[in-house]
Amino acid sequence: MPRPILATIHLSAFQNNLNVARRHAPDAKVWAIVKANAYGHGIERVFDGLRGADGFALLDLQEAQRVRALGWRGPILLLEGAFDLRDLELCSRLDLWHTVHCDAQIDMLAAHKTNVPQRVFLKMNSGMNRLGFTPERYRAAWTRLNALPQVDEISLMTHFSDADGAKGIAAQMLAFANASRDLPGERSLSNSAATLRHADAVLESDWVRPGIAMYGSAPDFPAHSAADWGLQPTMTLAAKIIATQNLEQGDTVGYGSSFTADRPMRIGVVACGYADGYPRICPSGTPVLIDGARSRTIGRVSMDMLAVDLEPVPQAGLGSDVTLWGRAKQGAVLSIDEVAQCAQTVGYELMCGLAARVPVEVAP
Ligand SMILES: *Cc1c(COP(=O)(O)O)cnc(C)c1O
Repeated sequence: MPRPILATIHLSAFQNNLNVARRHAPDAKVWAIVKANAYGHGIERVFDGLRGADGFALLDLQEAQRVRALGWRGPILLLEGAFDLRDLELCSRLDLWHTVHCDAQIDMLAAHKTNVPQRVFLKMNSGMNRLGFTPERYRAAWTRLNALPQVDEISLMTHFSDADGAKGIAAQMLAFANASRDLPGERSLSNSAATLRHADAVLESDWVRPGIAMYGSAPDFPAHSAADWGLQPTMTLAAKIIATQNLEQGDTVGYGSSFTADRPMRIGVVACGYADGYPRICPSGTPVLIDGARSRTIGRVSMDMLAVDLEPVPQAGLGSDVTLWGRAKQGAVLSIDEVAQCAQTVGYELMCGLAARVPVEVAP
């Protein structure tokens, strides 16, 4: 018997989450962001759930090839654009649209030999200071691109640093609007947080770019939960109890004896550890579902195992199902965002960190 741990990808949740994005952006086209191997889910696994999107956006050229290999003929956007001149040949061959965020990429385009002009998304650095031309230099970049025979339509794009939080997007919206005024072309502004929280940015977007929301995680947890937004988890990580222990008061659990029982208690040992992608930093008390009922972890997470409290589920024992995040068979949901918060991180990192050794099943 294989080790009893399994990740399940829920295709119907993708359709639900895509519908949530469409409800918030009824007039926009939707890029489904599938970078980082579809946020750790696997591009091939999620494709059927997301094929209702208008395009797929990612940044790895091999991943773009994989989307084409799945038979997708619609738009594909490279979010970081070309890394060298050869990438532009692949863009021509596979009809990939690509971001242009710096002068070196315009130089590459100017040097690219092609009869078929390419669709580009010109990126503005409106305040995030990661990729893009500053507002002052944006128009000059557009003019230079527009003069190139290698370039077809130019779309305008920017990315928000604070769509999920208190600072918000107003300053970046203003910078973008001022510097792009009267430039023609489609606009793409909104990531998940902006799509759900900022209708003003959605109104300016011909294309929205939701990533994390497609995967059923709230972009602004804990201000909102995934359930608040109507999002459903797309990944469940579950394992079984492979041993139980009866503790006396004063007994300790796991490496470093970080947990001490203050009374007699029964614990289960679960076939999931940090080598599966469950964060070692999660402290005692991190929520889990045991046979669908809420309980908590006990002691330190080790490489291949972790311990859980069986007190809330007296009937549980050897072979019981433990949901580390996602949906239990009984229907209860443990949001990945709650676990991520215990790990001092975000749902994105947990999804992306699912270990290769965990078997994955796709459910309708
Ligand atoms: C990753 C990414 C997104 C999606 O962000 P989420 O927070 O996952 O919605 C959108 N746009 C760009 C440029 C990105 O790199």
